[in-house]
Formats: sequence, C-alpha cells, structure tokens
Amino acid sequence: MLSWEQTPSLEPMRCCRAWVEIDLAALRHNVQQLRGVLPASTQLMAVVKADAYGHGAVTVAQTVLQAGAAWLGVATVPEGIELRAAGIQAPILVMGAVNSTEEMQAIAHWRLQPTLVNPKQALVFSETLAKLSAARPLGVHLKIDTGMTRLGFPWAEAVDFVRFVHQLPHLKIDSLYSHLATADDPNPATMQLQQQRFTAAVESLQRQHLLPPRLHLANTAATLADPTLHYDLVRVGLGLYGVYPAPHLQTQVDLQPVIQIKARITHLKAVPAGTGISYGHQYVCDRPIRLAVVGIGYADGVPRILSNRLQVIVKGHLAQQIGAITMDQLMLDVTGIPNLQEGDVVTLLGRDGSHTLSPDDWAAMANTISWEILCGFKHRLPRIAVEQALPAPAQPRIGPG
Ligand SMILES: *Cc1c(COP(=O)(O)O)cnc(C)c1O
Repeated sequence: MLSWEQTPSLEPMRCCRAWVEIDLAALRHNVQQLRGVLPASTQLMAVVKADAYGHGAVTVAQTVLQAGAAWLGVATVPEGIELRAAGIQAPILVMGAVNSTEEMQAIAHWRLQPTLVNPKQALVFSETLAKLSAARPLGVHLKIDTGMTRLGFPWAEAVDFVRFVHQLPHLKIDSLYSHLATADDPNPATMQLQQQRFTAAVESLQRQHLLPPRLHLANTAATLADPTLHYDLVRVGLGLYGVYPAPHLQTQVDLQPVIQIKARITHLKAVPAGTGISYGHQYVCDRPIRLAVVGIGYADGVPRILSNRLQVIVKGHLAQQIGAITMDQLMLDVTGIPNLQEGDVVTLLGRDGSHTLSPDDWAAMANTISWEILCGFKHRLPRIAVEQALPAPAQPRIGPG
C-alpha cells in the first residue's frame, strides 16, 4: 500500500519511524462533495496554506485541481512560490498581508495574486510593478473588514478604496472579499451582520459602477451553513481535509478524513510495578505492564498536553499512552495485546479495525481546534500518498444475523 519511492530523498530508516498517510481518493471525494453544494456559477478555492493543513501542499494542490477546484489559497508568498515551482498553473491568492517590496516583486515574478487591504499598499504595489515594467497587469484582491477585525479596509469605505485602486496602472481588481468570524457558530446573528455589511458595500459599489468581477465571503463553515454566502467563489480549507467545522454542520455533505498518522513500535519491554515512566515520572505503574516505545513525539505534531490522555490503535486494540510525551518518542501500555513485535505499526490518527481516531478527538482533549491539530504535522514526518477505497456505504444486512 505504501510507495516509498514517492519520497526518494528520505532515508528508509527515517521513513520507518513515523509518517503521515494522505488518502488522495478521500481528498477527491471531499472536493466533489463540497462542489455538490455549490451552484455551477460558484468556483471552489482550495485553501492550502500551512502546507495544506499539514497534508503536504503540492500533492494536495495537484489532486484538488484535478478534482475540480479552480483556485488555490495560501497565506504567505513562499507558500505560493512552492506551488508555482512545482509547476502548478492555477490562480493562487495570497491571503496574508504583503508589505515589503521584495515580496511584491516575488508576487509579480511568480504571478501570484495579492490581497490588498489599504490604498497606500496598492500604490506601492503599482509603483513596484511600474519599475519591473510588467507587461500584463497583476490581478489583485481587495479585502474589506466586515467584523472579523483582522486584515481588511473598513467596509463602510469600500467605495473609496476600490475607486483608488481602480485608477492605478498595472493592477487589475479581480475580487472583493471579506472573512467571517463566527461561521461555525450555530447562532448566525454575527455572520448575518457581516453579510449585511458586505452586501451594503457591494450595493454602493454597484451604484458607482465599480463592482469587482468576483465576490467571496465563505470559508468551509459558511459554505455548509448558508447558500446565500456562496457568491462567486468559496474559500474552503478544513472541509477538504475531511473534517467538519462544527457538529451542527455535519448533515450537509459526506466528508472523509484524508490524513492518517502512523508510527512504529521501536522497543518493547516488561516493566515491574512501581516503575516511573518518562520525564518527571508523571506516571508510575501500579502493576507490572508491557511497555511499547513508539517513534513519534511532540516535535512531529503530537501535542505534549495529550500526555497520559492519548489513546492509539495497536493492531485493532486501543492502547493507553503513559508518561510524558517526549520530543521524538512516546510510551504505551500494551499489556494484554497479543503477538506484538518491535516494528509493528500503531495508528495515532485514522482507522484500524473497528476503531477510528480523529483530529476532533485530539482537539477536544487538548482544548484546541482541529485546525491547529492538523497543521501541527510538519515536514519532519514524511508524507505518503495512498489511494484507499472509500468505505462502502452502509448496506442493509441480507439474511439472518
Ligand atoms: C484559512 C482561511 C480560510 C479557510 O478556512 P476553513 O475554515 O479552513 O475553511 C478561508 N479564508 C481565509 C481568509 C482564511 O484565512
């Protein structure tokens, strides 16, 4: 199932310690499911910032584009360059702030599309492009703040902002957008207030004949929550990766988890009662146990705060993690699990037998959100692309039993 050839630059021994499996069939399925809720006039932007939420930006981008995503969204200029350097041609929106002229030059060179949040920044951009004697105007995206209170020009002054950018040479306004602060909240009041402000800005731009060709407002939660938020484009991150932004949004589409985190047992031993385990001896066993050391730790993205709480799947059995999770290794109590050997694979996130462990499970235990759990898996873990058949839809049982 694993194709080690896909990571030729990695020594096999390092690959063997721990890795991430990315299910490309699930990823394509999620794109299709999400596109299924959109009208034909709405495009899908796949948000692949933070290395595609820990899934590996280039592989994810290539796969989702084949599956029907039209745009890619990143947070930073280097993230956009990584995709272009891999040969990806699709339009790429840089959603984060871009302020230095070096970044502006890189944006122009790699044909990325920046987010502009004020007139001064737009002016500097235009001047930078003039100096580069750019042949084609650069597509830019104007962001207004409707209540997220992060990046964006005040929504009530959208007309002044758009008019100013409109008259600048070398820039072509491609879209007007904003970002929602509470789209995953079952109470839609704040989201609706943001939408009203967005609509007010859009209407005043229409009256001035300054309406940009594209409008967008929705992240995953808004895409699932309310079709009136779809506009011309939706910017979907979390849902692509098969994770729901909130329990009340689970009914809309069938999303399949894309990531599995696996690691090997590197050492097995018997430990007598009364023995302290790992740094600080936070855990002292009250009975003799069989202990497994596993080659993955907090430097790989397993939050240390899950020490003594995490459960993992070992050959279809749940096993309790014990003692402090260390940088590169963690320990399990595997007492009673038969036929274990050093080298056996354990599943930290994903499915094995009848058990499934999800980023939501970790997020609940770590008092954080699934977004943060996912983007904790960084380059130290090799990523292996797999094509897994999706689980067949539940069939009615035929015959007795
Ligand atoms: C990260 C991000 C998104 C995607 O959010 P999800 O909740 O993961 O779908 C969309 N828009 C902007 C501006 C973002 O920063």
